[in-house]
Amino acid sequence: MLEARAAVRGLKEYHPPLGGRVGLRLDFNENTVGCSPRVLERLRQLQFEPLARYPERESVERQIAAHLGVDGAGLLLTNGVDEAIHLVCETYLEPGDQVLIVVPTFSMYEIYAAATGAQVITIPAGAEFRYPTDEVLARISSRVRLIAIANPNNPTGAVVARSDLLRILRAAPDAAVLVDEAYFDFYGESLLAEVERSPNLFVARTFSKAYGLAGLRIGVLVGSAAQMAMVRRVSSPYNVNAVALACLPEALADQEYVRQYVAQVRQGREWLEQELRSLRLHFWPSQANFVLVRIGEGHDTFVSALRERGILVRDRSRDPGCDGCVRISVGLGGQTEQLIVALREAILARTQLWVQG
Ligand code: PMP
Repeated sequence: MLEARAAVRGLKEYHPPLGGRVGLRLDFNENTVGCSPRVLERLRQLQFEPLARYPERESVERQIAAHLGVDGAGLLLTNGVDEAIHLVCETYLEPGDQVLIVVPTFSMYEIYAAATGAQVITIPAGAEFRYPTDEVLARISSRVRLIAIANPNNPTGAVVARSDLLRILRAAPDAAVLVDEAYFDFYGESLLAEVERSPNLFVARTFSKAYGLAGLRIGVLVGSAAQMAMVRRVSSPYNVNAVALACLPEALADQEYVRQYVAQVRQGREWLEQELRSLRLHFWPSQANFVLVRIGEGHDTFVSALRERGILVRDRSRDPGCDGCVRISVGLGGQTEQLIVALREAILARTQLWVQG
């Protein structure tokens, strides 16, 4: 009988909703209003030619390398950061190798790493989800072949200090250190400039968040030229489709659009955090486009109450250390206003239930 590999049979299933997300989408940290109009215009103008031929990525890769200020030989466009993580795991992990992640964090590190047969070591974050750099350093050995760090982290919005990232990089020369900067645009600090000096560093970026292109599936992986030559060996030459390649230059060219969106999200985040404070809800200050909130008991009723009011948020209560927690993405001002009205109603309804109970 045909059987999947043991490592695959042992994988946890990851169940993001693949349909039925109707309403104000504050559940997956996407851009809530969409991409630059320049991208839509490019889409409208597309003719048959780019669809008929295999995608040609070279010139787009050159443009993005120039935009990021990195050596094109060390850059690979990917089918979202998801694929970048997958490729790093495929390139470096053998069965039995160790992988370090600090939890809670983005699920795909564990899934792709465990699928190779590597052993994933999860280190709990410190108090208030601080990155436990000393604990990570203490676990580094020559068996550790990958350390994956989301900076800012999902679902907490917390960040790791640059000096700590550099300590980890230097302490783990035998490991790929993947710094996932999916939420870079909302934070503004990057390790990209370190790639030249650090042969074991990989930095990933995405166009799914601030740029509003989650549906096109475009990410970037940057590393040293020598290491990226290895990563390219396991990647499909056509991993990023022609429509995505046609749109990316337009998205990149409209920096003003992204700058404005990010500025509004940052304002909205502050507003939401203020409101959470006044509702006496515990939350973790975030450097990304979402906030993790401890709703406590009734977190599931809270998520349903918001859904009834047309707003989708994500229950994260099963993540390590996230008992009773819900993650709420931040969009534009009017959307934040709609969220805050619904939030107040849902919290008030819960308090009344308690009083009656
Ligand atoms: N990394 C992190 C930390 C994320 O939160 C996400 C999206 N939820 C991703 C990567 C995946 O991004 P992409 O859409 O580029 O695959």
